[in-house]
Amino acid sequence: MAEHQVLYRQWRPLTFASMVGQELVVNALRNQVRTGRLAHAYLFCGSRGTGKTSTAKILARAVNCENPKDGDACGECESCRRLQDESSFDILEYDAASNSRVEDMRSILETVQYPPQYGRYKVFVIDEVHMLSANAFNALLKTLEEPPSYMIFILATTEPHKVPATILSRCQRYDFGRIPARQIMGRLREAVDHENVKATDGALMQIARAAEGGMRDALSILDMCIGYGQDVDETLVRHVLGTSDRSFLFRFAESLINQDASAALGCIDELMNAGHEPAVFAREFAGHVRLLLVARTIPDQFAATMDLAEETAASYIGQAGTASESRLMSIMDIFLDVDSALRYAASPRFALESAALHACLRTEEADTAALLDRVQELEGKLKSLQDQIAGGAVQVTVSKPNTEPAPKEPARPRKASPAVKDRTMEQIWKDAMTQLARNDPGTFAQLGQGQLVSAEAYTFHWAPKSEEAGFSAAILAKPDKTARIEETLSSIAEQPCHFIVNRTPGSAPQPEAEAPSLDDVYKTFGAENITIQES
Ligand SMILES: [Zn+2]
Repeated sequence: MAEHQVLYRQWRPLTFASMVGQELVVNALRNQVRTGRLAHAYLFCGSRGTGKTSTAKILARAVNCENPKDGDACGECESCRRLQDESSFDILEYDAASNSRVEDMRSILETVQYPPQYGRYKVFVIDEVHMLSANAFNALLKTLEEPPSYMIFILATTEPHKVPATILSRCQRYDFGRIPARQIMGRLREAVDHENVKATDGALMQIARAAEGGMRDALSILDMCIGYGQDVDETLVRHVLGTSDRSFLFRFAESLINQDASAALGCIDELMNAGHEPAVFAREFAGHVRLLLVARTIPDQFAATMDLAEETAASYIGQAGTASESRLMSIMDIFLDVDSALRYAASPRFALESAALHACLRTEEADTAALLDRVQELEGKLKSLQDQIAGGAVQVTVSKPNTEPAPKEPARPRKASPAVKDRTMEQIWKDAMTQLARNDPGTFAQLGQGQLVSAEAYTFHWAPKSEEAGFSAAILAKPDKTARIEETLSSIAEQPCHFIVNRTPGSAPQPEAEAPSLDDVYKTFGAENITIQES
């Protein structure tokens, strides 16, 4: 039985004509071969699996072909057959990632001085060229400055900004874009038909999307699917991709946005079973939410700015539309803080789960809704009291100030007292909360997990309500959060304020029982409704 050749090798294009995508690059290079106006050095830039190395080899064959057809290799002449052999001396392949030292570079550059064995050109392909050491770059530069007439250098990189300007200036640059999912899917269809494997369009599209513009990744995923020896459908693809692809991040985000705690915990279970590191996942997920925020802010430039395939960008824009900006911010904050919460959590899994629950349960929408409900309830009670008093059903009894006659005008300024000073601190706190609720809902939600336990001399002590809220305490104790809260307090108090997080749950100090003042009663019920009686 013939040894199974991996799909990626089997479907590696041997001619420009059989390449999928990269039409601009392919046309330009074919044109150069046709007219003989070749450069001595090329720089191929683009993300992994977009065809840089394949194109380099196609170019090497085309420039050496004895009977080129429209700038493309014929695939039949002796040169073409020799160069299809991976071990040809006329195509030198060098992986800078594993040979970054100057010694490695020098020894291969020595072979450059020997002309090609058969064809007209010798092609030197350097993969991941940005990984070369500074000395190795210098050695390469010397050769690039005065290349032998038969040499063509092709430098490939995923990170062109790391290539020195001296090298860049000697190269003709070509950018390899991500291959659209539709085109990748077309090639996957050819491959499954050739292998006599049944596959649904949905499954192939799913693979194409997961590959994010890289043909090599797409074919590798398809290979894994075919390895299961069954029809390739969406269930199988999902199983093969598991928690390793972007769609998992979308699924997890969806559960949080929908406040579906059971789906969120289910995702975490999958993650744990697949052996993921909670802290790493939390960072990755915070990155996902950050992309959602960017997608919300600049949907038009999103794909280009973030270097994403159009299909992937569309998914982000779609999901970003399902949640408010402040909601996404608060989810992102929660997951950015998992790192520090891990120190206080009983287990890493617990930290991730409590972050997920937190994101599901504490939403500013829910908070605002709860506040509105409460306000409405109080308004209702007040209205019914006012009605009852107006109807004479209720008499309000207050202790009359000792000797003074009942005042006609209720407006009298309060005298300063220690009690008033405390109330001022409380007022500063309340105003700060109102401001945070508006400007920083994430922090506001965390503060809602606890309460102010004391406030004196512009120092505000906050404590979590319960042991479970220890997570919020950990987050609020972080210097950047504390600074944000202090900044808000200070701007309202108009002097420096301190915010201190107590780690142990505490209850709010019980205010001294105070008889309602006459002013309050007048203000609330209206002077005309009050009759003062001696008790
Ligand atoms: Zn040929």
